[in-house]
Amino acid sequence: MRLLIMGPPGAGKGTQAKGLAARYDIPAISTGDIFRGIAKADPATASPLAKQVKEIMDTGGYISDEITNGIVAERLGEPDAAGGFLLDGYPRTDGQVEALDTMLAEDNARIDAVISLEADQDQLVGRLLKRAELEGRSDDTEEAIRNRQQVYVEQTAGLLSLYDRRGLLVRVDGLGEIDEVGERIVAALDAYLTA
Ligand code: ADP
Repeated sequence: MRLLIMGPPGAGKGTQAKGLAARYDIPAISTGDIFRGIAKADPATASPLAKQVKEIMDTGGYISDEITNGIVAERLGEPDAAGGFLLDGYPRTDGQVEALDTMLAEDNARIDAVISLEADQDQLVGRLLKRAELEGRSDDTEEAIRNRQQVYVEQTAGLLSLYDRRGLLVRVDGLGEIDEVGERIVAALDAYLTA
């Protein structure tokens, strides 16, 4: 099973991705997690790439397609992703969609479904500010959050209609308890896949 999960910042993609990956026994691959791993290097010895990634993330912008596509291509080449995967937070730009299409075509593979986790942006700011207190993510300041939302609207929201035109989009209401939303996703996905 090859799945994508998309949605605005704070919609709960990461949390749901982990649950779904366990359920379908596929790796959850989060570009946000990969970039956080790169950015957390000790500033004294950090590589230029690590410094650049941290700077961009802290303002809420996107890492370049070139870097992002390269990292994803490498990750999808690992043995655990050969039988399926759930991509969380990728693709986010037209260029990333194109790159993913190419990666899949090379493997004669296709995406089975794209989960769209829907939530009202204003409610999400409050959720993200709460997460900032709990987890201390450096890109959860109000300014970075607003910027991430704007970048999402400008560069990523349109990708949903692209996948909808491909007949792959499964829309799910992302508001509610974690388990409740998880069950909603599984029900919508099962209905879609067996239709
Ligand atoms: P959120 O969905 O809450 O914004 P993520 O963990 O998915 O959080 O992403 C955090 C940050 O990592 C993004 O704001 C961006 O800077 C970077 N990032 C993650 N995925 C991508 C991607 N596909 N392309 C470019 N930048 C990305």
